[in-house]
Amino acid sequence: MKKKVIVIGGGIAGLSAGVYALRCGFDVTVLESHSIAGGNCTSWKRSGYLFEGGMHWLTGSSKKEPIYKMWRTVGALNDSIQIHCSEPFIEYDYEGTPIRFYRDVDTTEKHLISLSPEDAKEIKALCNNIRKVKNLAMPVTDLRGVKVTKKTRPPISLLFSAISAMRTMGSFSKISRDEYVGRFVHEGLREMLRSLTNEKTGVLPLFFTMGALARGDGGFPEGGSLPFVGRIVDTFQSLGGELLLNTRGDRVIVENEKAVGVMVNGKNMPADAVIITSDTMSIDRLFDTPPKAPWLEAMHAVTEPTMAIFLSLGIKADLKKYHKGLVFKLQQPISLANQKHEYLSVNNYASDPVYSPEGKTAITIILDGDTYDFWKKAKEENRYVDEKQKLAGVVIEALSKLVPEIEGQVEVCDVATPLTYERYCSNWKGSWMTEMTPSMKMKSYPAAIKGLSGVYFAGQRMMPPGGLPVALMTGRTAVQYLCRDTGTLFVSEE
Ligand SMILES: Cc1cc2nc3c(=O)[nH]c(=O)nc-3n(C[C@H](O)[C@H](O)[C@H](O)COP(=O)(O)OP(=O)(O)OC[C@H]3O[C@@H](n4cnc5c(N)ncnc54)[C@H](O)[C@@H]3O)c2cc1C
Repeated sequence: MKKKVIVIGGGIAGLSAGVYALRCGFDVTVLESHSIAGGNCTSWKRSGYLFEGGMHWLTGSSKKEPIYKMWRTVGALNDSIQIHCSEPFIEYDYEGTPIRFYRDVDTTEKHLISLSPEDAKEIKALCNNIRKVKNLAMPVTDLRGVKVTKKTRPPISLLFSAISAMRTMGSFSKISRDEYVGRFVHEGLREMLRSLTNEKTGVLPLFFTMGALARGDGGFPEGGSLPFVGRIVDTFQSLGGELLLNTRGDRVIVENEKAVGVMVNGKNMPADAVIITSDTMSIDRLFDTPPKAPWLEAMHAVTEPTMAIFLSLGIKADLKKYHKGLVFKLQQPISLANQKHEYLSVNNYASDPVYSPEGKTAITIILDGDTYDFWKKAKEENRYVDEKQKLAGVVIEALSKLVPEIEGQVEVCDVATPLTYERYCSNWKGSWMTEMTPSMKMKSYPAAIKGLSGVYFAGQRMMPPGGLPVALMTGRTAVQYLCRDTGTLFVSEE
C-alpha cells in the first residue's frame, strides 16, 4: 500500500511538492480551494486581453542555473519552451531621455557613463557590485539525513561567489536608499535608482536582481503563468496525482500528535502525511490547537509582507514603440492610504500577440506598499468599488500624460487590491512575497515542527523573499523531510 499524502494548496509549492512526492512513490492528492490551480502564479482574460498577473521574470529559467533542473523535473520548463530575455531589461524615461539597465553589465556601464560622465566613478562601482554578486545562483542541496538517488551539491565555484557576494552585502546592508542615491549627480539617474529601489529593503535587491539578469537568468517563459502552471499540472496528473479543485482543506486532523487526515466539507479525508502550502503566516486556522515552534514565532516577528495594487488595462492602441518595462516619474505623485507613489512602473505587452488583439495593447501596473487596512475599511464602508474606480481614474489620467496614445482608449480596466489576493489565495494580508529587509537572512525555515509528526510546510513564506523559485524549492524540501521521516528514497532530478 502506498502512503497517502494530502497537499493543501495547488499553487507552485503545492504542485511541485505533489510531483516530487509522486516520484518518490507516494499516493498524492492536492486540494485547491480555487477553480484553477496556480495560486498567485496566474493570468486572466478580459474582453480579448490576457493580463499576466504572477510572473515577470523567473529565477532558474536559464539552463545553467542549478534550479533549472527542478523546473524541468516538475514539467514547468523544457527544451521547446522559449524563454524571452528582453534587452535592455528596463527603461526609465527622464524627461524624454531613455535611461536603460541592460542585462549586459558592460553595456549598462558604457550607456550610463555616456549619459553622465561626472558619475563615472559611482557608475563603475555600481556595475562592479553587480559583477560581484553576478555568479551567486540559488543553490540546491539535499536535506541532511535523507536517502537520495543522486546527491545534489552546490558547485565549489558557488562558495567563492557567495564569499564575494557576502562582502558586498556587508558593506551595503546598512546604507539607506537615499544615502546611496545621493552619491550620484545626474538627476535622471538618481530618479531611476530611486524608482527601482525601496526605502525598506535598500539597494541590495537591485544588485542581486541585476546580477541574476547579468548571468543570463530571469527570463520570461513564453505564454507566462497559465501555460507554466498547466505544464506542472500535466506532469502531476500524468504521474497519477489527483488534483481536487474547488476543494478547501478546512482543518488538519491530528491524533496523538500525528496528522491522520484533513477535514474537507465536514468529512475526514484520511492521510499518512499532510503538506501545507497555504501561507505559513495563516496556518493557525488549519488546526484545533495552533502549532507552536520557535521558527514560527521568529517568522511572525520578522515578516513584512510584499503586496500591491495591480492594475490591468486593455488599450485600443498599439504601444509597440514603447519599451516592455517602462518606468516614469509622475508629474503629480499618487497618494493612497499611507503610500505615496512618485513613479509608475508599466509592463507593456504590446510586442507579444498572446496578450492582446492586433493593434491593441495589454498593460499592467503595480503600485506596491501595504494598503490592506485602507481597502478593508473601504469594504466595510461600502466604498470599495468606488475607491477602485477612483484610483483607476487617477492612474489612467497620469499615464495618459506620459503615453498620450492611451488617452480615451482604455476599454478594459481591472483593479486587484490586497483584498483580491486574500480572497483568491487566502494569503496573509493578500501578500505574495516577503520584504527582504537588510536584517533578514535568505535562509529557509524548517519544514516541520517538533512534536507534530506527519505535517510539513512549504511555500513562498518559508524562505524570504519568496517568489516562484522558493515555492518550488520548498515544495521539494518538504518532500525530502517526508522521505527522511518515512525512510523513503528521494528520487533526485535527472
Ligand atoms: C503581481 C505579482 C507578480 C509576481 N511576480 C513574480 C515574479 O516575477 N517572479 C517570481 O518569482 N515571483 C513573482 N510573484 C510571486 C509568486 O507568484 C508567488 O510568490 C508564488 O506563486 C507563491 O506560490 P505558493 O505556492 O507558495 O503560494 P500561492 O501562490 O499563494 O498558492 C497557495 C495556494 O493554496 C490555495 N489554498 C490556500 N488555502 C487553502 C486551503 N485551506 N485549502 C485548499 N487550498 C488552499 C490557494 O488558493 C493558492 O492556490 C509575483 C506575484 C504577484 C502577485
